[in-house]
Amino acid sequence: MTIKENYQQIRAEVPDHVTIVAAVKTRTTDELKMLIDAGIADIGENYIQEAEEMRKALGDEARRVRWHFIGHLQTNKINKALELFDVIQTLDSVKLARAIDKRAETVMSILIEINSGREPQKTGLLPEDAEQAIREIAPLENLSIKGLMTMGPRFGNPEDARPYFKETKKLFDHIASLNIPGAEMDVLSMGMSNAYGIAIEEGSTLIRPGTLLFGERMSC
Ligand SMILES: *Cc1c(COP(=O)(O)O)cnc(C)c1O
Repeated sequence: MTIKENYQQIRAEVPDHVTIVAAVKTRTTDELKMLIDAGIADIGENYIQEAEEMRKALGDEARRVRWHFIGHLQTNKINKALELFDVIQTLDSVKLARAIDKRAETVMSILIEINSGREPQKTGLLPEDAEQAIREIAPLENLSIKGLMTMGPRFGNPEDARPYFKETKKLFDHIASLNIPGAEMDVLSMGMSNAYGIAIEEGSTLIRPGTLLFGERMSC
């Protein structure tokens, strides 16, 4: 199947309220163009430099879609990230939030990344630390919290990801119930190619497929 057909199939399959963010790391601009022509509205990129090159190569077309940063943001890349992206999905510390707030000139939409698998090598706030962090981040003027994001462990069997999605959804509902000013809980970003269906069953409103749209990656 072509990239366009892959996108149309998944768009037809998932409920209308679920946003599809195409994870485009390591892909070519031509591949990305096919997807934009197929009608995708949201692009996710892990790497600042790749995003910069893609946006440059796409020219005006780059503005037809929203750009989501889904990688690990280093402090020295904040200014570039603010320039290139509409949403930062991977805000994982109060310190990073303060650094972004200081540099931003307009309000940046963010998601709080949760390390639902509690994996020491993974980024994201532990579920038990999230509420306190959100209370500290929410008042920052140039950040607007829109929801939560999680990777979940990348197990072979998609069912194994379910408990992590469930836990993140529980946290999402809990934070929503607190009605913290500056912390909307509208977006729950979870589910990649292998377990997006389960993520949606567990309450995801935004999935991030890569492989499913483009085929296997050569690296990363
Ligand atoms: C690579 C990546 C994806 C897409 O993964 P696939 O398995 O190719 O669907 C989604 N989200 C993040 C944060 C990623 O790094």
